[in-house]
Amino acid sequence: MLRTASITGANPSSSATLRDGPFRSEHAPYRLDFTNISQVLNATQALIAEGVYGPEFEKQLRYRAAHQVNVKNVLDVLPNPENRITLSAQKDAMGIPKPQAHYAIDEYTRRGAEVSKADFTRIAELMGGTNLRYSAEGNFANNQHITGTMSMGNDPKTSVVDRFGRTHDHENLFIVSTGVMPTAATCNSTQTGLALALRTAQHILEQSNVRTPVPATSKSSSLR
Ligand SMILES: Cc1cc2nc3c(=O)[nH]c(=O)nc-3n(C[C@H](O)[C@H](O)[C@H](O)COP(=O)(O)OP(=O)(O)OC[C@H]3O[C@@H](n4cnc5c(N)ncnc54)[C@H](O)[C@@H]3O)c2cc1C
Repeated sequence: MLRTASITGANPSSSATLRDGPFRSEHAPYRLDFTNISQVLNATQALIAEGVYGPEFEKQLRYRAAHQVNVKNVLDVLPNPENRITLSAQKDAMGIPKPQAHYAIDEYTRRGAEVSKADFTRIAELMGGTNLRYSAEGNFANNQHITGTMSMGNDPKTSVVDRFGRTHDHENLFIVSTGVMPTAATCNSTQTGLALALRTAQHILEQSNVRTPVPATSKSSSLR
């Protein structure tokens, strides 16, 4: 059964069923999003490529734009230390080294993509869909969830901050950002980033012996 839920972003409905399970030892988990991305551009390009013009074009465009749906996967990416930001040999106008990104998609994530393709086919079958089109093999879209550059962890050799966002190297420096999450997993990052930031703030208050207690009912709005 496909259990659906709403997750932040341009996705009225998502399936959370495949985000966890024993299969994670074999391939990346993923969520499936039924997006509300406009189909007008896709349909227009297809019709032009087919040589359809005039009143038939308008008729077909109205039909196709209203009957097409886009389903996408959001795959887990493991916290591979080789995926990192380093300083580039290139410098900016102020002489500061530019960041250089190193990023590659491993076999674990590629296998997850392959498995999710079977789900796309099954969903289309259940919806009576035809004319299926898949992304090109090995073509992955950037999901814009900016994580992993200041990873949280217990070991200073493999992480930048501890569980409360305090940097291992500087006792008086805390980082609140989605960058402390070692991986974005299958979920959008902002709400988790906010929850971690509130937790860090709570920890700083406790460490500073601040006496104003945070009411249990409205912790988030009371951190002033
Ligand atoms: C196109 C796009 C769509 C997205 N959609 C979603 C979504 O639907 N749902 C979701 O959950 N997440 C989404 N994200 C991810 C989300 O926006 C980020 O994960 C989140 O904003 C990260 O928050 P942050 O506070 O860590 O960093 P940021 O929001 O990047 O904030 C960092 C701030 O620091 C400032 N800054 C940087 N350097 C300095 C400096 N030297 N001095 C002073 N200030 C500095 C920057 O100007 C910026 O304001 C999306 C991201 C993008 C790019």
